[in-house]
Amino acid sequence: MAFRQLRPKHVGVLMALGALLTWVPLRAEAGPEVQAVAQAGAQAEAAPPAQDGCRRCKGRGVKDCPNHDAAMREAEGRVQFCSLAAACDKCSGTLVVDCDRCDGGPESAAAEQRRKAIEDWMANSRVAQHFKRNVPRCDTERFELVMDVSGKFKVGRKKIDAHALMHLVADDTTFVEERVREHFEVEPKEDYFAKMRMWMWANPEDHSEAVKEFMDSSARGDFKLLGKDPVFAVWQEPGLFSTAQGIRSVFTHNAGHMLVSNLFRQLDVSPHGGGWLDAGVGHWYEYARFDRSVNYCIEEASILENFSNGVWKAAMRKMCASAESKGQTLVVPLLSKITTSMSAREQAVCWSFFDWIVAKKPGALRPILVGLKKKQDNRDLFKEFLGVNVLDAETLWRSWVMSTYPAKEKTR
Ligand SMILES: [Zn+2]
Ligand SMILES: [Zn+2]
Ligand SMILES: [Zn+2]
Ligand SMILES: [Zn+2]
Repeated sequence: MAFRQLRPKHVGVLMALGALLTWVPLRAEAGPEVQAVAQAGAQAEAAPPAQDGCRRCKGRGVKDCPNHDAAMREAEGRVQFCSLAAACDKCSGTLVVDCDRCDGGPESAAAEQRRKAIEDWMANSRVAQHFKRNVPRCDTERFELVMDVSGKFKVGRKKIDAHALMHLVADDTTFVEERVREHFEVEPKEDYFAKMRMWMWANPEDHSEAVKEFMDSSARGDFKLLGKDPVFAVWQEPGLFSTAQGIRSVFTHNAGHMLVSNLFRQLDVSPHGGGWLDAGVGHWYEYARFDRSVNYCIEEASILENFSNGVWKAAMRKMCASAESKGQTLVVPLLSKITTSMSAREQAVCWSFFDWIVAKKPGALRPILVGLKKKQDNRDLFKEFLGVNVLDAETLWRSWVMSTYPAKEKTR
């Protein structure tokens, strides 16, 4: 987009005002248009022309593009780039159009820069190049999302389209990223090694093609890679991912796994004594976002497992009371298990144990994760950063559950 030059119709006005201004001093309370024109008049001979907008555009030089409502405009503002916004035939994703009543203003240059940045981003998408179409996707600071789904989705009483759903998912992953940042005292530029790629494809063909092309894998089902260059890929299986809530919760859950696997050192700690922490984070962020957790990463789950319908506090309190009376431990046996070999119930225990550390020993999370990434032993890490041995950690956690979680809650 080139800046528009002064149009001839303005020239007469400028000359007249220029003459006027030789004896009427421009006062501070003069409206912006008068000031603009006055300045333009002063500079009329020396290019470039003034860029002060007009009254119609409130001195901006641009106007909001009419193709995006207020909610979507805000949603677009929370992501770096969105391929569906970029497809807007009026604004190419800048969300503004040139004011047709003036020659530009202070926001014109920013809009032009933004347009170039969007063009670059669009031109460099390997996913879009491979599929030769504008695959619906958006980037945030930490995630690259593909949400190649269609149709309408119920959210509360409203029905939203797939584009709005993609932005809800983007907001969900940002929510997780912000909590992870607090919990693990993350310095994003130093502590992460990659952007997390999360894809949802409309059909199994595109899913397997993407996984084959970009991951060099022939996986047909859900595909997840943790540690180095994390990826999570699924397709919109009917029943499983047909609702907005189903899609949002599975992305939120896995966003936690991915971020933590990439932090400090690109290593999934689950096979190295960190299964309890890995399982804990997946469920914790999902629970914090939606007040329940219904996604489980379980190997070969032939029957869909479930624990207390995803609403866990009262159920966990019962479980702790029962373990107490039978002299059993709940956390200790999980310290050597990997996430995917745990039952739904065991994963809920990890969630609660993580919940306790977040509440009572938040400063321990970062050094414990760093230690697990160095494959250090839980016993040493607990001693050093929780200040207790593993048995005492279990006892402290349990009594916190008994005094903090409700005895009863609705699970529907
Ligand atoms: Zn204007
Ligand atoms: Zn968008
Ligand atoms: Zn637009
Ligand atoms: Zn999980």
